Amino acid sequence: MALNKSMHPRNRYKDKPPDFGYLASKYPDFQQHVHTSLAGRPVVNFKEPEAVRALTCTLLKEDFGLTIEIPLERLIPTVPLRLNYIHWVEDLIDGQKQPRRGIDIGTGASCIYPLLGATMNGWYFLATEVDDICFDYATKNVEQNNLSDLIKVVKVPQKTLLMDALKEETEIVYDFCMCNPPFFANQLEAKGVNSRNSRRPPPSSVNTGGVTEIMAEGGELEFVKRIIHDSLQLKTRLRWYSCMLGKKCSLAPLKEELRKQGVPKVTHTEFYQGRTMRWALAWSFYDDVIVPSPPSKKRKLEKTKKPLSFTLPEAGLKELQAKASALGCTASSPVDSISALLEKTLTDLRVLHKHVPCMKQEQSLFLTAVENTWIHGRQKRREGSRQLRELPRAPHCSQTSSFQTTMVTAVPATNPASQNQSTQSSNAPNQTASAEELAGLQQPEEQIGNGASSNEMSKEQKESSVSVEDVDMDSSTSTEAVQETVPKEEPAAASEMPSKQPPSPAAVEPFLFKCLLNVMLEESDVVIEMHWVEGQSKDLMNQLCTYLKNTLLKSIASP
Ligand code: SAH
Repeated sequence: MALNKSMHPRNRYKDKPPDFGYLASKYPDFQQHVHTSLAGRPVVNFKEPEAVRALTCTLLKEDFGLTIEIPLERLIPTVPLRLNYIHWVEDLIDGQKQPRRGIDIGTGASCIYPLLGATMNGWYFLATEVDDICFDYATKNVEQNNLSDLIKVVKVPQKTLLMDALKEETEIVYDFCMCNPPFFANQLEAKGVNSRNSRRPPPSSVNTGGVTEIMAEGGELEFVKRIIHDSLQLKTRLRWYSCMLGKKCSLAPLKEELRKQGVPKVTHTEFYQGRTMRWALAWSFYDDVIVPSPPSKKRKLEKTKKPLSFTLPEAGLKELQAKASALGCTASSPVDSISALLEKTLTDLRVLHKHVPCMKQEQSLFLTAVENTWIHGRQKRREGSRQLRELPRAPHCSQTSSFQTTMVTAVPATNPASQNQSTQSSNAPNQTASAEELAGLQQPEEQIGNGASSNEMSKEQKESSVSVEDVDMDSSTSTEAVQETVPKEEPAAASEMPSKQPPSPAAVEPFLFKCLLNVMLEESDVVIEMHWVEGQSKDLMNQLCTYLKNTLLKSIASP
Protein backbone atom coordinates (compact mmCIF):
# COMPACT_ATOMS: atom_id res chain seq x y z
CA MET A 1 0.00 0.00 0.00
CA ALA A 2 1.39 3.31 -0.95
CA LEU A 3 1.04 5.77 1.87
CA ASN A 4 -0.40 8.44 -0.39
CA LYS A 5 -3.68 6.59 -0.09
CA SER A 6 -3.88 7.61 3.55
CA MET A 7 -3.30 11.28 2.98
CA HIS A 8 -6.10 13.70 3.73
CA PRO A 9 -8.82 13.17 1.11
CA ARG A 10 -8.40 16.71 -0.17
CA ASN A 11 -4.60 16.60 -0.32
CA ARG A 12 -3.75 17.24 -3.94
CA TYR A 13 -0.88 14.73 -3.77
CA LYS A 14 -3.06 11.93 -2.45
CA ASP A 15 -3.50 10.11 -5.71
CA LYS A 16 -1.04 12.14 -7.67
CA PRO A 17 2.50 12.21 -6.35
CA PRO A 18 4.74 14.90 -7.80
CA ASP A 19 5.98 14.07 -11.29
CA PHE A 20 9.71 14.57 -10.94
CA GLY A 21 10.33 14.14 -14.68
CA TYR A 22 7.88 16.84 -15.59
CA LEU A 23 9.05 19.20 -12.84
CA ALA A 24 12.68 18.65 -13.86
CA SER A 25 11.92 19.53 -17.46
CA LYS A 26 10.16 22.72 -16.39
CA TYR A 27 12.42 23.93 -13.55
CA PRO A 28 16.19 23.94 -14.21
CA ASP A 29 16.95 24.57 -10.49
CA PHE A 30 15.13 21.38 -9.63
CA GLN A 31 16.50 19.42 -12.59
CA GLN A 32 20.02 19.39 -11.16
CA HIS A 33 18.76 17.36 -8.17
CA VAL A 34 16.91 14.76 -10.20
CA HIS A 35 18.74 11.58 -11.12
CA THR A 36 17.71 8.50 -13.02
CA SER A 37 17.39 5.32 -11.01
CA LEU A 38 18.64 1.95 -12.25
CA ALA A 39 15.04 1.22 -13.17
CA GLY A 40 15.04 4.34 -15.31
CA ARG A 41 12.81 6.43 -13.05
CA PRO A 42 13.54 10.04 -12.13
CA VAL A 43 14.50 10.11 -8.43
CA VAL A 44 15.60 12.67 -5.86
CA ASN A 45 18.07 12.06 -3.04
CA PHE A 46 16.22 13.13 0.06
CA LYS A 47 19.30 12.96 2.20
CA GLU A 48 20.47 16.15 0.50
CA PRO A 49 18.87 19.22 2.03
CA GLU A 50 19.55 21.09 -1.22
CA ALA A 51 17.43 18.56 -3.11
CA VAL A 52 14.57 18.72 -0.61
CA ARG A 53 14.67 22.48 -0.64
CA ALA A 54 14.59 22.49 -4.45
CA LEU A 55 11.58 20.17 -4.45
CA THR A 56 9.69 22.22 -1.85
CA CYS A 57 10.32 25.48 -3.72
CA THR A 58 9.37 23.85 -7.01
CA LEU A 59 6.10 22.38 -5.69
CA LEU A 60 5.11 25.66 -4.05
CA LYS A 61 5.78 27.43 -7.33
CA GLU A 62 4.14 24.90 -9.61
CA ASP A 63 1.07 24.06 -7.55
CA PHE A 64 0.46 27.22 -5.50
CA GLY A 65 2.19 29.99 -7.45
CA LEU A 66 4.35 30.80 -4.41
CA THR A 67 7.96 31.93 -4.61
CA ILE A 68 9.91 31.30 -1.43
CA GLU A 69 13.47 31.33 -0.19
CA ILE A 70 14.69 29.15 2.67
CA PRO A 71 18.17 28.93 4.16
CA LEU A 72 19.67 25.45 4.38
CA GLU A 73 20.43 25.88 8.05
CA ARG A 74 16.77 26.07 9.05
CA LEU A 75 13.97 23.51 8.79
CA ILE A 76 12.98 22.77 5.23
CA PRO A 77 9.28 21.99 5.14
CA THR A 78 7.79 19.34 2.94
CA VAL A 79 4.64 20.32 1.15
CA PRO A 80 2.38 17.21 1.38
CA LEU A 81 2.65 17.03 5.17
CA ARG A 82 1.95 20.74 5.58
CA LEU A 83 -1.07 20.34 3.31
CA ASN A 84 -2.41 17.50 5.42
CA TYR A 85 -2.35 19.77 8.46
CA ILE A 86 -3.97 22.70 6.59
CA HIS A 87 -6.78 20.41 5.42
CA TRP A 88 -7.36 19.15 8.95
CA VAL A 89 -7.59 22.73 10.22
CA GLU A 90 -10.19 23.29 7.49
CA ASP A 91 -12.11 20.35 8.95
CA LEU A 92 -11.84 21.77 12.45
CA ILE A 93 -13.07 25.26 11.63
CA ASP A 94 -15.25 24.23 8.76
CA GLY A 95 -13.35 26.93 7.03
CA GLN A 96 -12.48 25.98 3.50
CA LYS A 97 -12.60 29.01 1.24
CA GLN A 98 -13.84 31.31 3.97
CA PRO A 99 -11.92 34.19 5.41
CA ARG A 100 -10.76 32.95 8.77
CA ARG A 101 -8.17 34.11 11.22
CA GLY A 102 -5.40 31.87 12.46
CA ILE A 103 -2.13 31.92 14.34
CA ASP A 104 0.91 29.92 13.30
CA ILE A 105 3.15 29.44 16.32
CA GLY A 106 6.77 29.18 15.11
CA THR A 107 6.24 29.86 11.44
CA GLY A 108 9.79 29.07 10.44
CA ALA A 109 11.84 30.67 7.67
CA SER A 110 9.46 29.36 5.05
CA CYS A 111 6.27 30.75 6.68
CA ILE A 112 4.69 27.79 4.94
CA TYR A 113 1.39 27.39 6.82
CA PRO A 114 0.37 31.05 6.46
CA LEU A 115 1.47 31.11 2.82
CA LEU A 116 -0.56 27.99 2.03
CA GLY A 117 -3.57 28.99 4.16
CA ALA A 118 -3.70 32.49 2.70
CA THR A 119 -3.23 31.31 -0.89
CA MET A 120 -5.61 28.37 -0.72
CA ASN A 121 -8.33 29.76 1.54
CA GLY A 122 -7.78 33.49 1.92
CA TRP A 123 -7.13 33.04 5.65
CA TYR A 124 -5.59 35.82 7.73
CA PHE A 125 -2.58 34.80 9.78
CA LEU A 126 -0.60 36.02 12.70
CA ALA A 127 2.71 34.19 12.27
CA THR A 128 5.02 34.12 15.28
CA GLU A 129 8.71 33.40 15.40
CA VAL A 130 11.51 33.66 17.97
CA ASP A 131 14.45 33.15 15.68
CA ASP A 132 15.90 36.23 13.89
CA ILE A 133 16.89 34.43 10.73
CA CYS A 134 13.52 32.69 10.45
CA PHE A 135 11.72 35.95 11.16
CA ASP A 136 13.63 37.80 8.42
CA TYR A 137 13.07 35.08 5.83
CA ALA A 138 9.42 34.65 6.75
CA THR A 139 8.81 38.40 6.44
CA LYS A 140 10.51 38.42 3.06
CA ASN A 141 8.59 35.39 1.84
CA VAL A 142 5.30 37.07 2.73
CA GLU A 143 6.29 40.32 1.04
CA GLN A 144 7.54 38.78 -2.16
CA ASN A 145 4.27 36.92 -2.58
CA ASN A 146 2.25 40.08 -2.00
CA LEU A 147 0.50 38.54 0.98
CA SER A 148 1.25 41.22 3.57
CA ASP A 149 -2.44 42.11 3.74
CA LEU A 150 -3.27 38.64 4.97
CA ILE A 151 -0.15 37.61 6.90
CA LYS A 152 1.52 39.47 9.73
CA VAL A 153 4.82 38.01 10.90
CA VAL A 154 5.74 38.96 14.47
CA LYS A 155 8.85 38.40 16.52
CA VAL A 156 7.99 37.04 19.97
CA PRO A 157 9.98 36.24 23.12
CA GLN A 158 10.76 32.57 23.79
CA LYS A 159 9.01 32.43 27.15
CA THR A 160 5.37 32.36 26.07
CA LEU A 161 3.69 30.91 23.05
CA LEU A 162 0.42 32.72 22.63
CA MET A 163 0.21 35.23 25.45
CA ASP A 164 2.77 37.70 24.14
CA ALA A 165 1.57 37.46 20.56
CA LEU A 166 -1.99 38.27 21.61
CA LYS A 167 -1.30 40.86 24.24
CA GLU A 168 -1.90 43.84 21.96
CA GLU A 169 -4.93 42.50 20.14
CA THR A 170 -7.36 42.00 22.97
CA GLU A 171 -10.49 42.19 20.86
CA ILE A 172 -9.96 39.73 18.02
CA VAL A 173 -11.20 36.16 18.30
CA TYR A 174 -9.06 33.78 16.28
CA ASP A 175 -10.54 30.73 14.62
CA PHE A 176 -7.52 28.55 15.25
CA CYS A 177 -3.86 28.27 16.05
CA MET A 178 -1.55 25.71 14.58
CA CYS A 179 1.98 24.73 15.49
CA ASN A 180 4.77 22.48 14.38
CA PRO A 181 6.77 22.30 17.60
CA PRO A 182 10.47 23.01 17.23
CA PHE A 183 11.55 19.96 19.16
CA PHE A 184 11.17 17.26 16.63
CA ALA A 185 11.89 19.61 13.79
CA ASN A 186 15.34 20.18 15.18
CA GLN A 187 16.07 17.05 17.15
CA LEU A 188 14.21 13.90 16.27
CA GLU A 189 13.78 14.72 12.64
CA ALA A 190 17.43 15.54 12.57
CA LYS A 191 18.08 11.99 13.66
CA GLY A 192 15.75 10.60 11.08
CA VAL A 193 13.40 9.16 13.67
CA ASN A 194 10.08 8.36 12.05
CA SER A 195 11.44 8.59 8.58
CA ARG A 196 13.23 5.36 7.92
CA ASN A 197 12.18 2.61 5.64
CA SER A 198 12.02 -1.01 6.62
CA ARG A 199 15.06 -1.99 4.64
CA ARG A 200 17.35 0.33 6.52
CA PRO A 201 18.83 -0.83 9.81
CA PRO A 202 17.90 1.19 12.88
CA PRO A 203 20.10 4.28 13.10
CA SER A 204 22.97 4.26 15.54
CA SER A 205 21.57 7.37 17.14
CA VAL A 206 18.34 5.73 18.19
CA ASN A 207 19.12 5.87 21.90
CA THR A 208 20.66 9.30 22.03
CA GLY A 209 19.11 12.42 23.33
CA GLY A 210 18.62 12.14 27.06
CA VAL A 211 15.45 13.69 28.30
CA THR A 212 17.19 16.50 30.10
CA GLU A 213 18.99 17.56 26.98
CA ILE A 214 15.80 17.52 25.00
CA MET A 215 13.72 19.08 27.70
CA ALA A 216 16.28 21.84 28.07
CA GLU A 217 15.57 22.62 24.47
CA GLY A 218 11.86 22.56 25.04
CA GLY A 219 10.85 19.01 24.17
CA GLU A 220 7.67 18.35 22.28
CA LEU A 221 5.65 17.44 25.34
CA GLU A 222 6.76 20.47 27.29
CA PHE A 223 6.27 22.77 24.35
CA VAL A 224 2.71 21.63 23.77
CA LYS A 225 1.98 21.71 27.50
CA ARG A 226 3.01 25.35 27.43
CA ILE A 227 0.52 25.96 24.63
CA ILE A 228 -2.11 24.17 26.68
CA HIS A 229 -1.38 26.37 29.65
CA ASP A 230 -1.56 29.52 27.56
CA SER A 231 -4.85 28.26 26.20
CA LEU A 232 -6.20 27.84 29.72
CA GLN A 233 -5.79 31.57 30.17
CA LEU A 234 -6.93 32.60 26.71
CA LYS A 235 -9.78 30.07 26.49
CA THR A 236 -12.38 31.43 24.02
CA ARG A 237 -9.99 33.93 22.42
CA LEU A 238 -9.37 31.09 19.98
CA ARG A 239 -11.99 28.65 18.75
CA TRP A 240 -9.53 25.83 18.19
CA TYR A 241 -6.04 25.24 19.52
CA SER A 242 -4.01 22.68 17.62
CA CYS A 243 -0.55 21.25 17.48
CA MET A 244 1.30 18.70 15.38
CA LEU A 245 3.17 15.92 17.19
CA GLY A 246 6.23 14.06 16.04
CA LYS A 247 5.48 11.01 18.14
CA LYS A 248 2.35 9.02 18.60
CA CYS A 249 2.85 8.58 22.28
CA SER A 250 2.98 12.29 22.99
CA LEU A 251 -0.75 12.10 22.41
CA ALA A 252 -1.75 10.18 25.53
CA PRO A 253 -0.06 12.39 28.13
CA LEU A 254 -1.21 15.55 26.38
CA LYS A 255 -4.78 14.34 26.15
CA GLU A 256 -4.54 13.41 29.79
CA GLU A 257 -3.35 16.90 30.60
CA LEU A 258 -6.32 18.37 28.70
CA ARG A 259 -8.65 16.02 30.53
CA LYS A 260 -7.21 16.99 33.89
CA GLN A 261 -7.63 20.63 33.04
CA GLY A 262 -11.25 20.02 32.12
CA VAL A 263 -10.96 21.12 28.49
CA PRO A 264 -14.34 20.22 27.00
CA LYS A 265 -13.53 19.43 23.35
CA VAL A 266 -10.50 17.40 22.34
CA THR A 267 -9.71 15.48 19.18
CA HIS A 268 -6.70 14.20 17.30
CA THR A 269 -5.71 12.91 13.92
CA GLU A 270 -2.95 11.21 11.99
CA PHE A 271 -1.09 12.57 9.02
CA TYR A 272 0.31 10.06 6.59
CA GLN A 273 2.65 11.10 3.85
CA GLY A 274 5.36 9.11 2.15
CA ARG A 275 7.32 7.23 4.73
CA THR A 276 6.62 9.57 7.60
CA MET A 277 3.71 9.73 9.92
CA ARG A 278 2.68 12.53 12.24
CA TRP A 279 -0.09 13.11 14.75
CA ALA A 280 -1.98 16.22 15.68
CA LEU A 281 -4.01 17.26 18.65
CA ALA A 282 -6.71 19.92 18.84
CA TRP A 283 -8.81 21.28 21.68
CA SER A 284 -11.46 23.90 22.15
CA PHE A 285 -13.32 25.67 24.93
CA TYR A 286 -16.36 26.28 22.74
CA ASP A 287 -19.36 24.03 23.11
CA ASP A 288 -20.67 24.68 19.62
CA VAL A 289 -17.61 23.61 17.61
CA ILE A 290 -17.86 20.65 15.27
CA VAL A 291 -15.41 18.06 16.52
CA PRO A 292 -14.02 15.92 13.68
CA SER A 293 -13.78 12.29 14.74
CA PRO A 294 -10.35 10.81 15.22
CA PRO A 295 -9.35 8.22 12.61
CA SER A 296 -11.76 5.29 12.93
CA LYS A 297 -9.27 2.52 13.68
CA LYS A 298 -7.91 4.63 16.46
CA ARG A 299 -11.21 5.28 18.08
CA LYS A 300 -11.64 1.68 19.00
CA LEU A 301 -8.23 1.74 20.55
CA GLU A 302 -8.93 4.96 22.38
CA LYS A 303 -11.53 3.24 24.51
CA THR A 304 -8.90 0.96 25.89
CA LYS A 305 -6.41 3.75 26.29
CA LYS A 306 -7.75 4.93 29.61
CA PRO A 307 -5.02 4.51 32.18
CA LEU A 308 -5.29 1.91 34.90
CA SER A 309 -5.31 3.61 38.22
CA PHE A 310 -5.70 3.14 41.94
CA THR A 311 -5.90 5.48 44.88
CA LEU A 312 -4.02 5.39 48.14
CA PRO A 313 -6.24 7.16 50.66
CA GLU A 314 -4.87 9.94 52.80
CA ALA A 315 -5.41 7.85 55.93
CA GLY A 316 -2.77 5.32 54.88
CA LEU A 317 -0.16 7.74 53.57
CA LYS A 318 1.62 8.28 56.89
CA GLU A 319 2.30 4.56 57.22
CA LEU A 320 3.60 4.37 53.69
CA GLN A 321 5.81 7.38 54.25
CA ALA A 322 7.18 5.79 57.41
CA LYS A 323 7.89 2.62 55.47
CA ALA A 324 9.67 4.61 52.78
CA SER A 325 11.84 6.42 55.31
CA ALA A 326 12.66 3.10 56.98
CA LEU A 327 14.02 2.08 53.59
CA GLY A 328 16.21 5.17 53.52
CA CYS A 329 13.97 7.48 51.55
CA THR A 330 14.47 11.07 52.67
CA ALA A 331 11.62 12.54 50.67
CA SER A 332 9.09 14.59 52.58
CA SER A 333 6.15 14.54 50.19
CA PRO A 334 3.83 11.51 50.04
CA VAL A 335 4.17 11.41 46.24
CA ASP A 336 7.94 11.09 46.47
CA SER A 337 7.77 8.50 49.23
CA ILE A 338 5.29 6.37 47.33
CA SER A 339 7.29 6.74 44.18
CA ALA A 340 10.31 5.47 46.14
CA LEU A 341 8.32 2.47 47.43
CA LEU A 342 7.13 1.69 43.92
CA GLU A 343 10.67 1.91 42.60
CA LYS A 344 11.80 -0.54 45.26
CA THR A 345 9.06 -2.99 44.26
CA LEU A 346 9.81 -2.54 40.58
CA THR A 347 13.49 -3.14 41.22
CA ASP A 348 12.62 -6.29 43.16
CA LEU A 349 10.51 -7.40 40.26
CA ARG A 350 13.27 -6.58 37.80
CA VAL A 351 10.99 -4.26 35.90
CA LEU A 352 13.22 -1.67 34.28
CA HIS A 353 12.24 1.86 35.20
CA LYS A 354 13.46 5.38 34.74
CA HIS A 355 12.29 8.77 35.83
CA VAL A 356 10.90 11.00 33.16
CA PRO A 357 10.28 14.68 33.61
CA CYS A 358 6.76 15.63 34.61
CA MET A 359 4.77 18.29 36.37
CA LYS A 360 5.88 19.49 39.78
CA GLN A 361 4.49 17.44 42.64
CA GLU A 362 4.22 14.38 40.42
CA GLN A 363 6.51 11.51 39.73
CA SER A 364 6.60 9.74 36.42
CA LEU A 365 8.39 6.49 35.68
CA PHE A 366 8.87 4.86 32.30
CA LEU A 367 8.60 1.09 32.76
CA THR A 368 9.90 -1.68 30.54
CA ALA A 369 8.96 -5.18 31.65
CA VAL A 370 11.04 -7.91 30.09
CA GLU A 371 9.79 -10.87 32.07
CA ASN A 372 6.73 -11.71 34.10
CA THR A 373 7.97 -11.71 37.70
CA TRP A 374 4.75 -10.57 39.34
CA ILE A 375 2.70 -13.73 38.97
CA HIS A 376 3.83 -16.16 41.62
CA GLY A 377 3.30 -19.63 42.97
CA ARG A 378 -0.31 -20.73 43.17
CA GLN A 379 -1.52 -18.11 40.76
CA LYS A 380 1.20 -18.99 38.31
CA ARG A 381 0.29 -22.66 38.43
CA ARG A 382 -3.36 -21.80 38.06
CA GLU A 383 -2.71 -19.60 35.10
CA GLY A 384 -0.64 -22.53 33.87
CA SER A 385 -0.12 -23.18 30.27
CA ARG A 386 -2.80 -20.78 29.14
CA GLN A 387 -0.93 -17.86 30.57
CA LEU A 388 2.32 -19.07 29.13
CA ARG A 389 0.81 -19.55 25.75
CA GLU A 390 -0.90 -16.20 25.68
CA LEU A 391 1.68 -14.11 27.45
CA PRO A 392 5.03 -15.46 26.47
CA ARG A 393 8.08 -14.50 28.43
CA ALA A 394 10.23 -12.19 26.46
CA PRO A 395 13.19 -14.19 25.21
CA HIS A 396 16.47 -12.93 26.53
CA CYS A 397 19.04 -11.36 24.36
CA SER A 398 22.50 -10.26 25.32
CA GLN A 399 21.46 -6.64 25.35
CA THR A 400 18.70 -7.42 27.80
CA SER A 401 20.76 -9.38 30.24
CA SER A 402 23.69 -7.00 30.25
CA PHE A 403 21.32 -4.19 31.06
CA GLN A 404 19.59 -6.19 33.72
CA THR A 405 22.78 -6.75 35.62
CA THR A 406 23.22 -3.01 35.94
CA MET A 407 19.62 -2.49 36.94
CA VAL A 408 19.03 -5.07 39.60
CA THR A 409 19.46 -4.17 43.23
CA ALA A 410 17.39 -6.89 44.80
CA VAL A 411 15.49 -9.83 43.49
CA PRO A 412 12.56 -11.75 44.88
CA ALA A 413 13.50 -14.92 46.74
CA THR A 414 11.29 -16.81 44.35
CA ASN A 415 13.85 -16.49 41.63
CA PRO A 416 17.15 -17.95 42.81
CA ALA A 417 18.57 -17.84 39.33
CA SER A 418 18.93 -14.12 39.53
CA GLN A 419 20.13 -13.89 43.13
CA ASN A 420 23.69 -13.55 42.02
CA GLN A 421 22.81 -10.28 40.36
CA SER A 422 21.53 -8.79 43.54
CA THR A 423 24.85 -7.45 44.69
CA GLN A 424 25.12 -5.15 41.72
CA SER A 425 24.08 -1.66 42.61
CA SER A 426 21.67 0.27 40.56
CA ASN A 427 21.84 3.84 39.47
CA ALA A 428 19.17 3.31 36.90
CA PRO A 429 16.39 5.23 38.58
CA ASN A 430 18.52 8.34 38.39
CA GLN A 431 19.15 8.02 34.68
CA THR A 432 17.06 10.11 32.42
CA ALA A 433 14.96 8.36 29.80
CA SER A 434 15.82 8.66 26.13
CA ALA A 435 13.84 10.58 23.57
CA GLU A 436 12.42 7.37 22.24
CA GLU A 437 11.13 6.40 25.64
CA LEU A 438 9.35 9.65 26.09
CA ALA A 439 8.15 9.23 22.60
CA GLY A 440 7.12 5.78 23.72
CA LEU A 441 6.96 3.90 20.51
CA GLN A 442 9.75 2.37 18.60
CA GLN A 443 9.34 2.58 14.91
CA PRO A 444 7.21 -0.19 13.42
CA GLU A 445 10.03 -1.48 11.31
CA GLU A 446 12.15 -1.90 14.42
CA GLN A 447 9.48 -3.93 16.11
CA ILE A 448 8.91 -6.14 13.12
CA GLY A 449 12.51 -6.34 12.06
CA ASN A 450 13.81 -7.44 15.44
CA GLY A 451 15.40 -10.79 14.86
CA ALA A 452 14.65 -12.28 18.26
CA SER A 453 11.01 -11.36 18.26
CA SER A 454 10.56 -12.58 14.72
CA ASN A 455 11.94 -15.95 15.67
CA GLU A 456 10.23 -16.33 18.97
CA MET A 457 6.82 -14.84 18.44
CA SER A 458 4.01 -16.76 16.90
CA LYS A 459 2.35 -15.49 13.78
CA GLU A 460 -0.61 -14.23 15.77
CA GLN A 461 1.59 -12.47 18.25
CA LYS A 462 3.55 -10.85 15.50
CA GLU A 463 0.38 -9.71 13.87
CA SER A 464 -1.06 -8.38 17.07
CA SER A 465 2.10 -6.47 17.81
CA VAL A 466 1.77 -4.58 14.57
CA SER A 467 0.06 -1.36 15.47
CA VAL A 468 -2.07 0.73 13.20
CA GLU A 469 0.86 2.77 12.03
CA ASP A 470 2.55 -0.35 10.71
CA VAL A 471 2.06 0.39 7.12
CA ASP A 472 3.94 -0.53 4.04
CA MET A 473 6.93 1.73 4.00
CA ASP A 474 7.44 1.40 0.31
CA SER A 475 10.17 3.81 -0.53
CA SER A 476 10.14 3.11 -4.20
CA THR A 477 7.47 5.65 -4.93
CA SER A 478 8.07 9.30 -5.40
CA THR A 479 6.27 9.92 -2.13
CA GLU A 480 9.76 9.93 -0.72
CA ALA A 481 9.41 13.56 -1.54
CA VAL A 482 7.58 14.16 1.67
CA GLN A 483 10.30 13.12 4.05
CA GLU A 484 11.28 15.92 6.38
CA THR A 485 14.80 17.08 6.34
CA VAL A 486 17.10 19.31 8.30
CA PRO A 487 20.67 20.33 7.68
CA LYS A 488 23.35 17.68 7.81
CA GLU A 489 25.22 19.26 10.71
CA GLU A 490 22.45 18.58 13.20
CA PRO A 491 22.22 14.81 12.82
CA ALA A 492 26.00 14.62 13.02
CA ALA A 493 26.03 16.51 16.28
CA ALA A 494 23.13 14.49 17.59
CA SER A 495 24.73 11.17 16.79
CA GLU A 496 27.82 11.91 18.87
CA MET A 497 25.88 10.94 21.94
CA PRO A 498 24.99 7.25 21.81
CA SER A 499 28.26 5.46 22.49
CA LYS A 500 28.76 7.38 25.73
CA GLN A 501 25.30 6.65 27.04
CA PRO A 502 24.37 3.59 29.07
CA PRO A 503 21.78 1.36 27.48
CA SER A 504 18.29 2.55 28.22
CA PRO A 505 15.09 0.59 28.83
CA ALA A 506 13.85 1.52 25.37
CA ALA A 507 16.85 -0.33 23.94
CA VAL A 508 15.82 -3.54 25.65
CA GLU A 509 14.29 -5.71 23.00
CA PRO A 510 12.32 -7.84 23.10
CA PHE A 511 10.16 -6.81 26.01
CA LEU A 512 6.78 -7.77 27.39
CA PHE A 513 5.39 -4.28 27.56
CA LYS A 514 6.23 -0.67 28.21
CA CYS A 515 4.13 1.79 30.14
CA LEU A 516 4.25 5.09 31.91
CA LEU A 517 3.53 5.10 35.63
CA ASN A 518 2.47 8.38 37.20
CA VAL A 519 2.22 9.10 40.89
CA MET A 520 0.29 12.21 41.75
CA LEU A 521 -1.61 13.97 44.46
CA GLU A 522 -5.35 14.36 44.08
CA GLU A 523 -6.96 16.29 46.88
CA SER A 524 -5.12 14.66 49.78
CA ASP A 525 -4.94 11.16 48.30
CA VAL A 526 -2.22 9.74 46.13
CA VAL A 527 -3.27 8.37 42.77
CA ILE A 528 -1.19 5.96 40.72
CA GLU A 529 -1.88 5.71 37.01
CA MET A 530 -0.43 3.36 34.46
CA HIS A 531 -0.58 4.40 30.82
CA TRP A 532 -0.11 1.73 28.20
CA VAL A 533 2.63 2.46 25.67
CA GLU A 534 3.16 -0.78 23.77
CA GLY A 535 3.73 -4.47 24.16
CA GLN A 536 2.27 -7.93 23.92
CA SER A 537 -0.84 -7.65 26.05
CA LYS A 538 -2.48 -5.07 28.25
CA ASP A 539 -3.39 -7.90 30.66
CA LEU A 540 0.24 -7.87 31.72
CA MET A 541 0.06 -4.24 32.73
CA ASN A 542 -3.17 -5.00 34.53
CA GLN A 543 -1.48 -7.76 36.52
CA LEU A 544 1.47 -5.56 37.40
CA CYS A 545 -0.89 -2.78 38.45
CA THR A 546 -2.71 -5.19 40.79
CA TYR A 547 0.59 -6.42 42.18
CA LEU A 548 1.80 -2.89 42.92
CA LYS A 549 -1.51 -1.95 44.47
CA ASN A 550 -1.57 -5.02 46.70
CA THR A 551 2.02 -4.47 47.76
CA LEU A 552 1.30 -0.90 48.83
CA LEU A 553 -2.02 -1.70 50.51
CA LYS A 554 -0.42 -4.62 52.34
CA SER A 555 2.05 -2.16 53.84
CA ILE A 556 -0.79 -0.05 55.15
CA ALA A 557 -2.51 -3.07 56.67
CA SER A 558 0.63 -4.44 58.32
CA PRO A 559 3.36 -1.83 58.63
N1 SAH B 1 6.18 26.08 10.98
C1 SAH B 1 7.41 25.77 10.27
C2 SAH B 1 8.62 25.74 11.18
C3 SAH B 1 8.55 24.73 12.27
S1 SAH B 1 10.05 24.62 13.20
C4 SAH B 1 7.25 24.47 9.54
O1 SAH B 1 6.30 23.74 9.82
O2 SAH B 1 8.07 24.16 8.70
C5 SAH B 1 9.55 25.40 14.69
C6 SAH B 1 9.79 26.90 14.71
O3 SAH B 1 9.34 27.40 15.95
C7 SAH B 1 11.25 27.31 14.61
O4 SAH B 1 11.40 28.16 13.52
C8 SAH B 1 11.55 28.01 15.93
O5 SAH B 1 12.44 29.10 15.77
C9 SAH B 1 10.17 28.48 16.35
N2 SAH B 1 9.95 28.68 17.79
C10 SAH B 1 10.54 28.07 18.85
N3 SAH B 1 10.05 28.53 20.03
C11 SAH B 1 9.09 29.44 19.71
C12 SAH B 1 8.22 30.27 20.48
N4 SAH B 1 8.23 30.27 21.81
N5 SAH B 1 7.37 31.11 19.81
C13 SAH B 1 7.36 31.13 18.46
N6 SAH B 1 8.19 30.38 17.69
C14 SAH B 1 9.03 29.55 18.30
